[in-house]
Parts: sequence; C-alpha cells; structure tokens
Amino acid sequence: MKKISVYRPTTIEEAIQILSLHGTEAGVYAGGTDLLIRLKNRLKQAPTYLVDIKKINNLRYIKEDAQGGVRIGALTEVWCQYLRGGYSCWRNGGYICYGAIGDNSYYHSAMGGRLCYAVYPGDAAPALITLDAKVKLATPSGIKELTVEQLVPGDMMVDGRIQSHVVRFNEILTEVVIPPPRPDFRASFEKLRPRGVWDFAMASTALGLQLRDKTIEDARVVFGGISGKPFRERSVEEFLKGKTLSAELAGQAPSQALRDAAPLKYNATKIDMAKGLLTSGLEKLAAL
Ligand SMILES: Cc1cc2nc3c(=O)[nH]c(=O)nc-3n(C[C@H](O)[C@H](O)[C@H](O)COP(=O)(O)OP(=O)(O)OC[C@H]3O[C@@H](n4cnc5c(N)ncnc54)[C@H](O)[C@@H]3O)c2cc1C
Repeated sequence: MKKISVYRPTTIEEAIQILSLHGTEAGVYAGGTDLLIRLKNRLKQAPTYLVDIKKINNLRYIKEDAQGGVRIGALTEVWCQYLRGGYSCWRNGGYICYGAIGDNSYYHSAMGGRLCYAVYPGDAAPALITLDAKVKLATPSGIKELTVEQLVPGDMMVDGRIQSHVVRFNEILTEVVIPPPRPDFRASFEKLRPRGVWDFAMASTALGLQLRDKTIEDARVVFGGISGKPFRERSVEEFLKGKTLSAELAGQAPSQALRDAAPLKYNATKIDMAKGLLTSGLEKLAAL
C-alpha cells in the first residue's frame, strides 16, 4: 500500500485548513470504503494525506424538525444509523423507505462519502433528488448550499481532476437536508444488481410523486446506473403530471422514457432495465 500520512482534526475548520495546505494531494477520509481500495490498489489518484474526519463530533446525527424535515450529518453511517438506528421513514405519513439508503449493508459508509463517489454509480443521489434534498458544504469562505442535483452534475474537471461531483479539494460535505414531505407524497426506489447485497446498480429508478387524491400533481423520475450522473427524466415527469396514478399508467410511462438514449455496444439492456424498474416502481406506488 502507498505510504500515507493521516491527520485527525477535531473541527471542520481545522480539517479545511489541512486540506487547503496539501491541495489535491490530500483527501477527506470518512468511512474509507472507497478510499482504502484506491490506496490498496496504488491508484494514482489516491491521496498521500488522509484527513480523517471521524473525530469531528458534530457530524453524526439524524434530526427531524417539527415539520418533518430531516437533517443528516455527513458522518452518519448509512445502514446502522439511518435504518437500524430507528429513524422511521414512515413517520408523519411521509417518506417511504429507500432501498437506496437501507438496502445495502454499508456498515461504515458515511453519508458524505456516498454522495461524493468519483464516478457516480451511487444510489443515494437519485433517491435524494426525488426528495428535493440539499447538501451543505463547509468551504474556506463559509457554508455553501447546493441541491443534490447541482452536487452531481456528471463528469467535469474540478481542481485538475475529472470527477462527477463539484466538491472542491478543500471543501467538506457536512449535512444532507431533506425538506418536510407534503401530505400524499409517495416515493420509491428500485434497483437491479448482479449480486444480492453490496453491488452497484446495473440500473435503478427513484420516483417521487406528489398526489392530490389519485392525481399526480408533481413528479420526480431519476434513473441511476445508466449515465455519468443521476439522470432526471423530465419527459416522463411531464407525462405523469395531471394523470391518475394507476397500474395502467405504470405500463404507459416507459414509452416516454430514455427516447434519446444512445447505448454503447454492450449496454443497451440497461435501457430496458431502467424502463422495467420505472413500471414496477409506479405499480407499487399505485398499489399503496
Ligand atoms: C464492493 C462495493 C460495492 C458498492 N456498492 C454500492 C452500491 O450498491 N450503491 C452505492 O451507492 N454505492 C456503492 N458502493 C460505493 C460506496 O457506497 C462508497 O464507496 C462509499 O459509500 C463511500 O463512503 P465512505 O464513507 O466509505 O467514503 P470514503 O471512502 O471515505 O470516501 C469516498 C470519497 O468521498 C470523499 N469524501 C468522503 N466524505 C466526504 C465529505 N464529508 N466531504 C467531502 N468529501 C468526502 C473522499 O475523499 C473520497 O474521495 C460500493 C462500494 C464497494 C467497494
């Protein structure tokens, strides 16, 4: 394994100072799931200085406000605290539990790390986009707030590196903010993966529907695992708006999906997978 130095700051400010000092040679170390693999494989982009943020105390929490909005600290362990730790996704009649967050046993994966995976194959962002979630980034000049959609716009050059997110070398994702659900909001997450646990999505579909009685007033449709970014499919969203949520509609929606998709030689099946997941997600929401 490559030789590294590890810093263990106890405050965000200290962590940002260290990151600023070492530039792109340093990297935030949260759960380490991704980072340690990069180091073990001696990959060129593995950092030489790890800034272990686990000693920063106030990043590990799930807080619910009086209106039902939720704030999740970036170091909250995805599996054990979000799902097992007793946070009820059903509370206030609102959110439906996401496979995105609970389905995989990432015991040590922190929320911030999942959102910052370099080539975005992740599950958390598609699901969070359907909830209109935002993130807070601590930067040398203060706190910056972005929507999750703005956070992961797809591959781009940031500080001389190609990455799928916009977090700069000296910024730290501190919090995910999920707004309160409105009554009659329904959401689902469907995912196809080769293995039963611990595997990236071959395709995934996250849905968020705002209903009035059975009519869809607003919709979020986001595909994962098929593009360089969580792919928000606005033509399906427009198609769904104003229609009655039903099993029949679930069968019709895929005809509007991914019409401009340009598959490569071996991955055209992903389009069918994503469309199938769209139908099954809508069917499940219609049956609730
Ligand atoms: C075998 C395997 C299967 C996987 N399957 C899935 C899957 O099915 N679905 C899925 O969504 N993901 C999957 N992953 C990816 C996994 O979720 C991420 O690697 C992991 O969640 C990263 O979290 P971490 O806390 O361990 O991050 P780390 O490894 O510590 O960090 C990952 C990256 O994010 C940066 N980072 C971490 N925290 C912050 C922060 N707070 N602010 C700024 N930058 C930060 C790090 O510098 C690093 O670049 C899989 C990974 C593996 C190895």
